[in-house]
Amino acid sequence: MKREFAVIGLGRFGGSVCRELSSEGMDVLAIDTIESKINEYRHIASHAVIADATDEKVLKELGIRNIDHVIVAIGEDIQASILTTLMLKELGIKKITVKAQNDYHEKVLNKIGADQVIHPERDMGRKIAHSIISNNILDHLELSDDHSIVEIKAGTKLVGKSLTELDIRARFGCNVVAIKSGEANEINVSPLATEVIEDEDVLVIIGADKDISRFEKQLV
Ligand code: ADP
Repeated sequence: MKREFAVIGLGRFGGSVCRELSSEGMDVLAIDTIESKINEYRHIASHAVIADATDEKVLKELGIRNIDHVIVAIGEDIQASILTTLMLKELGIKKITVKAQNDYHEKVLNKIGADQVIHPERDMGRKIAHSIISNNILDHLELSDDHSIVEIKAGTKLVGKSLTELDIRARFGCNVVAIKSGEANEINVSPLATEVIEDEDVLVIIGADKDISRFEKQLV
């Protein structure tokens, strides 16, 4: 199913979103004020237009109202990002995703009704910090300020034991939602209690950060 997207701002972040959506066969309208950016994306996006997204008339002329999901990836210019988001909201766009530069920007975006506010530098920084602290944490996805999903490589304290034996839920209050195993990273999304953990297995665990951290200290 083809869905329509618009990406406003073709910096490193917006450009990468635009490339990826296009390579997945999605219909993408790419917008930037800089001509060289538009020339770069002319053959990547379905449509690439030089335009200032803070100009409501321009947005209307581009038919932005008919687009399902708009990604605002205007970087430095926070004022332009807020103004564009506000206008998209007023035009009734179903889904608006906006990249925030800092916490204040994020607060305003949430207030004016952006559906999804992302903070790629901060989130990637946190992910990297977690994997630097523990070599066994392969990935970290923040669900809220104090809950996460993490991928943890099974160490010697886990290998050869079943989930019943480990009793992770009762001892640590977190849940093993999946186990990845083998070179092909085969994923078992509903591991049975009798499942025995093998060498090189990766456990996908959901829980409160403090519980995950306790689990990690004692069993990883
Ligand atoms: P990143 O940190 O993702 O690289 P940048 O700040 O470098 O972000 O890029 C933001 C892009 O947004 C730039 O290409 C810039 O030309 C574009 N941009 C800025 N203001 C507007 C606007 N009002 N309308 C459309 N594009 C804009």
